[in-house]
Amino acid sequence: MPLITPGILRLSKLYCPTLKEDPTDADIASHRLLLRAAMMRRISAGIYAFLPLGYRVLRKIEQIVREEMDAIGCQELLMPILQPAELWHESGRWDVYGPELMRLVDRHEHCYALGPTHEELITALTRDELRSYKQLPISLYHMHWKYRDEVRPRFGLLRGREFLMKDAYSFHTSQESLQEHYDAQTQAYGRICNRLGLAWRGVEADSGQIGGKVSIEFMALAETGEAGILYCECGFAANTEVATAHIELTPHMTPFAKVATPGVETIADLATFLSIPSSATVKALGGSDAKGRATVLLIPGSHELSEVKAANLLGAFTMLTDEEMLAAGLTKGYLGPIGLPTGVRVIADTALQGLTHWVVGANEAGYHFVGAQLGVDFAVNEWADLLEAQDGDGCPECCKPLTAARGIEVGQVFQLGTKYSESMHARYMAEDNSELPFIMGCYGWGVTRSLAAVVEQHNDKGGIIWPISICPAEVVVIPLLVGESAVEPAALQLAELLSAAGIEVAFDDRPERAGFKFNDADLIGWPFQLVVGKRGLEAGIVEFKDRASGERRELPLDTAATTVAELVYAARAASL
Ligand code: ATP
Ligand code: MG
Repeated sequence: MPLITPGILRLSKLYCPTLKEDPTDADIASHRLLLRAAMMRRISAGIYAFLPLGYRVLRKIEQIVREEMDAIGCQELLMPILQPAELWHESGRWDVYGPELMRLVDRHEHCYALGPTHEELITALTRDELRSYKQLPISLYHMHWKYRDEVRPRFGLLRGREFLMKDAYSFHTSQESLQEHYDAQTQAYGRICNRLGLAWRGVEADSGQIGGKVSIEFMALAETGEAGILYCECGFAANTEVATAHIELTPHMTPFAKVATPGVETIADLATFLSIPSSATVKALGGSDAKGRATVLLIPGSHELSEVKAANLLGAFTMLTDEEMLAAGLTKGYLGPIGLPTGVRVIADTALQGLTHWVVGANEAGYHFVGAQLGVDFAVNEWADLLEAQDGDGCPECCKPLTAARGIEVGQVFQLGTKYSESMHARYMAEDNSELPFIMGCYGWGVTRSLAAVVEQHNDKGGIIWPISICPAEVVVIPLLVGESAVEPAALQLAELLSAAGIEVAFDDRPERAGFKFNDADLIGWPFQLVVGKRGLEAGIVEFKDRASGERRELPLDTAATTVAELVYAARAASL
């Protein structure tokens, strides 16, 4: 028998070692199912090999992303993974990227990075030849493996150390031109999400030190997602790291006094001790900024600090350890704005500006102040948005309560401005002959991560439920008796008819029990199943199952191929 029947995936020949049991080291559905359904195998922490079925899915996702990029005039090229360290020195990121950057040295002692992203490379690639305003705007992309030595590679493909990304970079002469392409990318990303069958939201994202509303993350909604998002029915949606919000505080209206609070070192204990809500208290956190200076941040006791906001404000932010607190003269558990050692920078969250009476640590072990009044008992010189907004806080745009959800970041679009073109001297000649830095945008899509995100959203206890757009094949035909009787030839004929109708067909000609094949079909997640048995064949019928709805029905053998082909065409059309 030939190894390949053209157009038909013969499961007896396919390398598809499905697993009956859940792998012990996989704790979320997508990770578990991608291993069990033989889509991939783990090679090492955060590094996976794709088996034939998984690779078919991966290529379909690539193709969808490619079509959407091509449709907005973004041109595909291919850049190397190995990037000379000099480029990273030029941009200044060799030192700031940290241990996530995988570095290596060649036999000539030259340093390289395995690209975690390609801003440096694309800027270096284009800067000498993209010289005139007449060549702009231009947008270029590639789809390639990326390397990041993540602190915690986990959840299978969701957080890998080697992963496939589509990354696009655009070059412009004006902010308007950048905005236009950024909007086109944003819309393309929405279409990619829809075509992959993802339930998703575009959210305002951290734009680091560039600031402004210049980045959107595309979040596949999932309880297991590592990102927190907040959204409102008015349309506002943002990553929790950066969301602003209206906060309700409940001042504890009591005269200024120092109260003994022995052993009360947390906000929860303080609120219980004083019988007040945590929103009446003020939390003080000791951290250090980019220059290692001690800094005290004050936020409402009801909320947590957004370390992303703090890092953007201070250049970098790390919480002080107990020893560092001691060295800076700060009293752990009793920090507050009154009586701090001189020289400590104090920054308070803007939500506290309206708080009339503050309950704060007294900077003395075992004591707090109550009823402290801003401007009377203490002063705050610096205000900033620091807190992490949470479920129920007021929407910054319409004040209605925000809803919290979790998401998997599958893509992000970003207006870079002149960050890389300035540092890497990438300039073009403007119409008036002046030399100006490119205005740039970048647009990343996680190809392997989005594959896992689809499975995270589309599964049940039986296995994966592939959307038609990216399934490894659209229909599986399952003969119940293989080798003997008329069942297998009749089933093969069905498979051939479907294949001739342009349908992707898998044919389960393995000499296995019916139950085994049914379980595998559900696990692998082919969208449609056609089962051919001896008794049905005698009655001229085959059994049909729709994997997503679970619907089963009997179809006349002689029209089954046409009926199923039409279902596939309809499903394909609906997914475009
Ligand atoms: P995260 O915040 O999840 O670490 P990121 O914001 O650092 O991601 P980007 O630099 O925006 O990631 O990369 C673009 C896309 O690449 C992301 O939206 C995501 O889909 C994908 N991606 C990033 N890191 C990983 C990873 N470790 N494993 C798989 N995909 C990843
Ligand atoms: Mg990102």
